Amino acid sequence: MVDIASHPFHIKGNRLNFCDLATDSMEKNCPFCQIIIGEKPADFVYQDESLVVFKDIHPHAPIHLLIVPREHIRSLNDVKEKDKDTLYKMIMKAKEMAEEHAIAESGYRLVFNVEGGGGQVIFHLHLHFLGGW
Ligand code: AMP
Ligand code: ZN
Repeated sequence: MVDIASHPFHIKGNRLNFCDLATDSMEKNCPFCQIIIGEKPADFVYQDESLVVFKDIHPHAPIHLLIVPREHIRSLNDVKEKDKDTLYKMIMKAKEMAEEHAIAESGYRLVFNVEGGGGQVIFHLHLHFLGGW
């Protein structure tokens, strides 16, 4: 029996829904929030309670993944002390992805585009994982 009041999951229909974890912080017009709550499709390669990883729709490398926190954080400039675990998890997930794709040794690139001048077009924090050349 699940104690709903103290449980981070919400019930939708008859099932517990991971995606709803993001609901509280979601921005209605944010494409990545829409992906996270399942309103918009994406090619997911990993999901857990704090982050998701999906393939970039316009890849700039043979392997181009986006590592995205479920929480809507606008940009790296908005990251606060409270977000340190999220940032740590994103970077550790990138390392894991490199191992999984057998490119940890050969090398890969991690990129945060920060604000418009840095090339950021989606204002929901994400880490680009590029490799496989
Ligand atoms: P940035 O320029 O750092 O904001 O990167 C945003 C990235 O998101 C770009 O590389 C886009 O190709 C990618 N992107 C935008 N919309 C989607 C989508 N619906 N699914 C997957 N990737 C997307
Ligand atoms: Zn968002």
